[in-house]
Amino acid sequence: MSSAASYRSMTLRRIGEPLILEQRPVPEPAAGEVLIRVRACGICRTDLHVIDGELPSQPLPIVPGHEIVGEVVARGPDARWAVGTRVGVPWLGYACGDCEDCRAGRENLCERARFTGYQIDGGFAQYVLADARFCFRLPEGIDDRHAAPLLCAGLIGYRTLKMAGDAHRLGIYGFGAAAHIVAQVARAQGRELYAFTRRGDLAAQRFALELGATWAGDSERPPPVPLDAALIFAPVGALVPLALRAVRKAGVVVCGGIHMSDIPAFPYALLWGERVLRSVANLTRRDAEEFLDLAPRIPVRTRVETWPLHEANDALRRLREGPLTGAAVLTMED
Ligand SMILES: [Zn+2]
Ligand SMILES: [Zn+2]
Repeated sequence: MSSAASYRSMTLRRIGEPLILEQRPVPEPAAGEVLIRVRACGICRTDLHVIDGELPSQPLPIVPGHEIVGEVVARGPDARWAVGTRVGVPWLGYACGDCEDCRAGRENLCERARFTGYQIDGGFAQYVLADARFCFRLPEGIDDRHAAPLLCAGLIGYRTLKMAGDAHRLGIYGFGAAAHIVAQVARAQGRELYAFTRRGDLAAQRFALELGATWAGDSERPPPVPLDAALIFAPVGALVPLALRAVRKAGVVVCGGIHMSDIPAFPYALLWGERVLRSVANLTRRDAEEFLDLAPRIPVRTRVETWPLHEANDALRRLREGPLTGAAVLTMED
């Protein structure tokens, strides 16, 4: 590839404004990096939080996108992955490996961690550079666009599900991209699934039933039986007391999103009985390895809706209007 080659990106230059189509020179990978030709990139609700400035210490300009599927086309010195390998790049783009959290196996909490599409340019582009240690080989038998949602909705959804322990009766609040993947894993593990959606979202409720949910209904409604755990994927704090009310004693409520509206005050009685409320932050490389090994064995089949790269703003608008039944994915033109 000549150094004069250029590529297109959809770049966030100002908080709250539409992404701008830019032409950029194709970079050379530095030591430890790979240059990836992007084939598909999923759109996650976190991209909306980045664009809206809802996350702290936002460097600009930035290219969003952290569900990247592409092919390694060049590698810097000491970088793993041969040219031609299909890899995925997730949200965790770097962790120091040296701090107390990293050494305790919690690189997801590393103070020096850097995140793809937020602090490192991401995959709303035809090319991306990535630290090769934080890229993953993707399972065969799943095409690029269907693999993309595995990289955040799948990985962080999987970490969220792990926090529910061995809960048999599992509630899921917010039936979008993460939920539709987690539902398939949970069913394959023999769990019973209860799906909660926005009031009257019959399409999402039908989708949940198709994926094997025992029950699907509005989030304000109590489930027909007490749950052992509930996962919240919608960024709505008001769901927390509702979920606590839905779980049995010692039940766990796990908040799977990076940002949530404020949680309203609730009586201590909802937490009493050794109920547990916790969040999930980011992912570790171990989560990625486990999940990418598990997904093809289930097999997880994602439902996607695609847009070409230059229509990223339309895709973001669509996601903002409400959850899709499935996941939004950008595909790259040549
Ligand atoms: Zn660290
Ligand atoms: Zn994400």
